[in-house]
Amino acid sequence: MRHTKVIDLLNGSSLLQEITAKGWVKTFRNNQFIALNDGSTIHNIQCVVDFENFPAELLKKVTTGAAIAVKGTLIESQGAGQKFEIQVKSLEILGESDPEKFPIQPKKHSLEFLRENAHLRVRTNVFGAIMRVRSVLSYAVHKYFQESGFVYVNTPIITGSDAEGAGEMFQVTSLSLDGNAPKNEDGTINYKEDFFGKHTNLTVSGQLEAETYAMALGQVYTFGPTFRAENSNTSRHLAEFWMIEPEVAFNDLDANMDLAEDFIKSIIRHVMEKCEDDLKFLEQRLKDEEKSKPQAERSEMSLIEKLQFVLENNFKRVSYTEAIDILKASKPNKNKKFQYIIEEWGADLQSEHERFLVEKHFKCPVILFDYPANIKAFYMRLNEDGKTVRAMDILFPGIGEIVGGSQREERYDVLVEKMKALDISEEELWWYLDTRRFGSAVHSGFGLGFERMVLFVTGMTNIRDVIPFPRTPQNAEF
Ligand code: ATP
Ligand code: MG
Ligand code: MG
Ligand code: MG
Repeated sequence: MRHTKVIDLLNGSSLLQEITAKGWVKTFRNNQFIALNDGSTIHNIQCVVDFENFPAELLKKVTTGAAIAVKGTLIESQGAGQKFEIQVKSLEILGESDPEKFPIQPKKHSLEFLRENAHLRVRTNVFGAIMRVRSVLSYAVHKYFQESGFVYVNTPIITGSDAEGAGEMFQVTSLSLDGNAPKNEDGTINYKEDFFGKHTNLTVSGQLEAETYAMALGQVYTFGPTFRAENSNTSRHLAEFWMIEPEVAFNDLDANMDLAEDFIKSIIRHVMEKCEDDLKFLEQRLKDEEKSKPQAERSEMSLIEKLQFVLENNFKRVSYTEAIDILKASKPNKNKKFQYIIEEWGADLQSEHERFLVEKHFKCPVILFDYPANIKAFYMRLNEDGKTVRAMDILFPGIGEIVGGSQREERYDVLVEKMKALDISEEELWWYLDTRRFGSAVHSGFGLGFERMVLFVTGMTNIRDVIPFPRTPQNAEF
């Protein structure tokens, strides 16, 4: 008999029918009530065993983490807490789980402890919820772009272009076993240039390649893994993360901001519709956590209210120059949380500046635009003032930068000038410059860090907790 998913059992459609359920035991109370979960939902199905009808030896093996199959009838539950339950007629242990050794016990584990058990933490309610939300969000990304007529482009993971990632790239090496690996004089393998003799690295962004496709297909997007050698330990940076990068021909910076805002709202709306139970669970988790904090540090809005707020309000669009004026005029030192040195025009904003603007001043998501040219990448469109570029960053409360984007410099001569000034090799980027030589046009795009979005939606605070297997300087074991 095929088994029925727990999520379908819980809606009661197979009431009074004989069903089979399979999953992992969460708890087994009073030798009678098994809470069974199969990953299809945050909720467990209660399986009621009449222990007199089952050998004690068998019931002993119903331990947290064990995989089991139960056959029985789905009935209405008399107990509080659930509508339906399974009256168990037969029980099979599929995979035992030694209670002395299984690390994920039915108690609250710290997130730090769970990070060390990345392969098992998904058995907890909180990680089950996060990973389902992540999956739905990722579907929402494709849905949005596909329904808006974008073409999904897979930009290369291994690339020779290093224009953007100075200092942050992982180099590719190969261990050729055929004896042809480049060797040093002493016979050891030369790891330096090793993609069949060429220097390559793991991509830090698919943008430059996506641009070339936008200049033929009009609207494109990438959604793939991105690598940065971030040798730091922030709660916002991973060495391997997923980035969504749309690129659109004939769109200027304003259209780019419109696209980003519409896109973000659309995927949040989708996840709120499809992940109601998981979001409610995550919201309650946050509320419980907040209880241990002093009143002043508790957040004013619940998780779902925060998401709703983003949907209902326009992102505040502010130029870099205005932002500097606001920062200069504010008296942040009054509030210890925002103690910073007020910068002069031209300096890059630090995360405490960004957080002040978003969390204290505007109290909503902010799009900062028209940054000084010298703090942004070479490919951004120079404004007529000759000193700012059409760049935008989207800043989110509690997260900081979630999106970085720009209108691209479409003028061949201006781009070449810029590259010369920054000592970027024209020979290396000849293919990129071709887009400006043949049919160049205004175009723009942005990069959204997928994990930062998952952080915002789930209310988690450490980026290591929203990706299945985080890659950080400490974490690459499995
Ligand atoms: P940050 O200032 O936070 O280091 P960035 O300006 O270096 O980010 P961009 O090159 O603009 O990042 O990349 C676009 C987006 O990718 C960022 O807005 C952010 O959401 C995400 N991102 C960048 N670096 C990381 C990282 N190491 N881990 C996770 N997400 C990242
Ligand atoms: Mg960075
Ligand atoms: Mg940045
Ligand atoms: Mg950026």
